[in-house]
Amino acid sequence: MEVLNGKELSEKLYEGLSNISDKDKHKLIILTVGDDAASKVYVRNKIRACEKVGIACENIILEDNMDDMSFQSFLKELIAKTFYDRRSPYERGGVILQLPAPKHYEDIFNAIIPAEFDVDGFGIENQLTLYQGHECVHYPATPKGIMILLDANNIEIEGKNVVIIGRSDIVGKPIAHMMLQRNATVTICHSKTRNLEEITRRADILIVAIGKPKFINASHISDGVTIIDVGINRLEDGSICGDVDFEDVKDYVKAITPVPNGVGPMTVYSLIENTLC
Ligand code: NAP
Repeated sequence: MEVLNGKELSEKLYEGLSNISDKDKHKLIILTVGDDAASKVYVRNKIRACEKVGIACENIILEDNMDDMSFQSFLKELIAKTFYDRRSPYERGGVILQLPAPKHYEDIFNAIIPAEFDVDGFGIENQLTLYQGHECVHYPATPKGIMILLDANNIEIEGKNVVIIGRSDIVGKPIAHMMLQRNATVTICHSKTRNLEEITRRADILIVAIGKPKFINASHISDGVTIIDVGINRLEDGSICGDVDFEDVKDYVKAITPVPNGVGPMTVYSLIENTLC
């Protein structure tokens, strides 16, 4: 069994990013709305990653009281003054809206963020390009991180049966399209899927993004499967586990991502790569 360690891989890949010559012209702006405790941890990780690579990062905390028009104007002005104003030292980079955010903030953000600054890849321009099967300016960070992890470990995608559990806009749907672009045969499952085990047992690569601790066990898989566990679940004792019961499946899999240190660090790495490249 091979453990696909995203932490180790991302550490190596960051070294490559540190050498980019014009990195001082890039900036990542993270917008957060309100006071979500889990978001603070994710934002801190992103700020640390920027520091590691040597690019500017700013976290702007917004009150949850902006109407559509004021958030839209705020965002347009922010982009103009950060990236287009000659007095600003920054020319490239991006802006992300840390999730969860109120629905109307998310809708406005995704509708107006220009593809080049949409380093999370959730904006309409990047999503449409992806869903039409074309090359995106920026691919969504988690699916992109999964692809980098699979490729770095020489796990073949073309022609393979890829089963994805979860159909979120940030993981399930985009990874399905990225897998299609790489000529996999893709099945997407969700909470209304019948006979889940029958479908998951046909997977060569099983990607699980549902948010239910240790939901997938040995009864869901066939020998030799590669499992990508996207889930991040905090248990009552404070520890973190994935959507897959690692101990139960580990003797049957070809390869598996651990939680923590699997997909999570690759997501942050991909965001930083999108910001710089
Ligand atoms: P989400 O929006 O939380 O949606 C969950 C998905 O799982 C939905 O599509 C839902 O189906 C499906 N689902 C729920 N119960 C199911 C069941 N019993 N059988 C089959 N499908 C089921 O998804 P998300 O935002 O992608 O998050 C999923 C997990 O990934 C969370 O733990 C999140 O914290 C984690 N995550 C991790 C990273 C990372 O970098 N590692 C990044 C993003 C998310 P319906 O559509 O039918 O409701």
